[in-house]
Amino acid sequence: MSTAADLIALAQRHVLPVYRPRELVLERGNGARVWDSEGREYVDLSAGIAVCGLGHNDPDLVAALVEQAGKLWHTSNVFYSEPPLRLAAELVEASGFATRTFLCNSGAEANEAAIKLVRKWATAQGRNPDRRVIVTARGSFHGRTLAAVTATAQPKYQAGYEPLPGGFRYVDFNDVAQLEAAMAGGDVAAVMLEPVQGEGGVMPAADGYLAAVRALCDRHEALLVLDEIQCGMGRTGTLFAHTQDGVVPDIVTLAKALGGGFPIGALLAGPKVAEAMQFGDHGTTFGGNPLAAAVARVALRKLASPEIATNVARQSRALRDGLAALDAEFGLFSEVRGRGLMLGAVLRPEHAGQAGAILDHAARHRLLMLQAGPDVLRFVPALNITDADIAEGLARLRAALADAVVAAG
Ligand SMILES: *Cc1c(COP(=O)(O)O)cnc(C)c1O
Repeated sequence: MSTAADLIALAQRHVLPVYRPRELVLERGNGARVWDSEGREYVDLSAGIAVCGLGHNDPDLVAALVEQAGKLWHTSNVFYSEPPLRLAAELVEASGFATRTFLCNSGAEANEAAIKLVRKWATAQGRNPDRRVIVTARGSFHGRTLAAVTATAQPKYQAGYEPLPGGFRYVDFNDVAQLEAAMAGGDVAAVMLEPVQGEGGVMPAADGYLAAVRALCDRHEALLVLDEIQCGMGRTGTLFAHTQDGVVPDIVTLAKALGGGFPIGALLAGPKVAEAMQFGDHGTTFGGNPLAAAVARVALRKLASPEIATNVARQSRALRDGLAALDAEFGLFSEVRGRGLMLGAVLRPEHAGQAGAILDHAARHRLLMLQAGPDVLRFVPALNITDADIAEGLARLRAALADAVVAAG
């Protein structure tokens, strides 16, 4: 038997120190509750960074994984197996715009595929050899591989990794005029955006913004790529976030909740681009792994259900009401923003930078939650979270905020 302290010592000695986890070791979970190695129980409003959309230990996901584990784990893409083929067809059907799917293992890998697909498509257009640029938005997050981190228009993720790949240009999110200017030179192959920015502070696209971007892309013969890795899979109240903006994208990337906690990513390609990559142009050993695909099929079916959409709307209201009540008591928030169960409580300027400290207090009160930068508390719980778990989470948050207010003097 190892104690939590022994295990944490292993991390400190042997794990590349790129993370700073809270000092507890999680052992098991059920729904929106998890238990640590000392037997303490937590309310989980983080869901493994918006990954466990159906909570922990969902019986249907467990059954799908166990059943597939007894049959076939891996074939590579040199041979067919049924789960990824079914999943690809089901994703195409559910998307309403895509005709083909590329399955991979993570969000960064899905975005890497999207970037490569844009470039291949642009190459095949042939008219303008300079049409290579991908425009992304400040505050975005697209992943940590070298191309994805270059698409991520935030210096803190890029510093020290130069030289970065060329052909990216940045504009302010929700600023149509800036985008128009950035596209005026005719060298833009695609615009790549999150319908709701996640890591950058839980910032939703303004009303009409994505429609205006779509119109600009059409005018300049550029592709619209939407990164729904965090905001997709039902999180904002519809299976895909962009349907609320009334736009049809050319490419959508998914990961996080797609496997309910089992690693998987996907690229969905619309008819304009779906034939741009041909045999040998791209690949991945593990993508479309039968275990991952079997689990994702069940996650997709459940996350696309009307019950989930109804619960997201209900718990979003409950969380917003609860956060408004906490703000009335403590006066900490300047704004609560987001869509569905992807909400950010923005700290007022006088409390700027305190999100990390508040998360420490929350963990002491047995509440797991996230920040999105130093100034925003981020709430991305399981989409099937219950009334009771939201209420208990808010009660623990109240205790954490009371401590934080005292500590901050
Ligand atoms: C998490 C995230 C990614 C990166 O996904 P990984 O699986 O960590 O590579 C990309 N885009 C968005 C919007 C994300 O939230």
